[in-house]
Amino acid sequence: MKADYHIHTKLCKHASGEMEEYVNAAVTAGLDEIGFADHSPMPSYYDQECRMMEHELPGYINSVLSMQESFANISIKLGIEADFAPGTEEYVRRMTDNHPFDYVLGSVHYLDDWGFDNPVNLQGFQERDINEVYARYFTLMTDAARSGLFDIISHPDLVKKFGHFPTVDYKPMLIPFLDAMRESGLCLEVNTSGLRKPVGEVYPGVEYLKIAREMDIPITIGSDAHDPSEVAWHFTETRHTLKEIGYEKTALFNKREISYTTL
Ligand code: ZN
Ligand code: FE
Ligand code: FE
Ligand code: ZN
Repeated sequence: MKADYHIHTKLCKHASGEMEEYVNAAVTAGLDEIGFADHSPMPSYYDQECRMMEHELPGYINSVLSMQESFANISIKLGIEADFAPGTEEYVRRMTDNHPFDYVLGSVHYLDDWGFDNPVNLQGFQERDINEVYARYFTLMTDAARSGLFDIISHPDLVKKFGHFPTVDYKPMLIPFLDAMRESGLCLEVNTSGLRKPVGEVYPGVEYLKIAREMDIPITIGSDAHDPSEVAWHFTETRHTLKEIGYEKTALFNKREISYTTL
């Protein structure tokens, strides 16, 4: 079963194309399963420009469910990409408890008030110590992993998006996060969108993935498609890399229950 578990829709206001076009692209790419995982509603003070509104969530869910009816040749899952941000946990828990999601992606896109992955906020990297940025990022990621809100933690080194890397070995920051992932039984997302970004590599990088593999942390693969042409982005080479690292399986989700398929 080849699956792409990270596909957006126009509802987030920064993606293009119709949902049917994403599904058709997945069929053309030879995928057996996809999951829509658009940016979820969040509390009204939080990043409203880059996500669906709360009143749009039922329509999103109905659209995904009706896609399942219209396409017999591919399995379509109902996912959602929720943010992890301190203070929003109860909102996210209520939202995910009240809807029939197959899985919930957890993403850190903000370090406190700084939306670090948005190109308009790039200046923020000049104003901060990069080692402290990484430390804060992995602290939040560890809290996300322990929050009990998510099934999969997405693009788990997104902080490198524009090519900023720490000047110290960041393994001491990474290991507590991966310990939390293992203890919580979560999946790490291998997200190929990094190949389209200035950093030019998959999230997470190869050395990071080798540690995750040694710790037996399961993975899903996602393209983070914001356009139909990005579905299954560089999946063939990424699968090859994952096999070289020693991964043999990827995870699938149904109603938030995990199962495994050969990579
Ligand atoms: Zn997005
Ligand atoms: Fe994201
Ligand atoms: Fe995304
Ligand atoms: Zn994303």
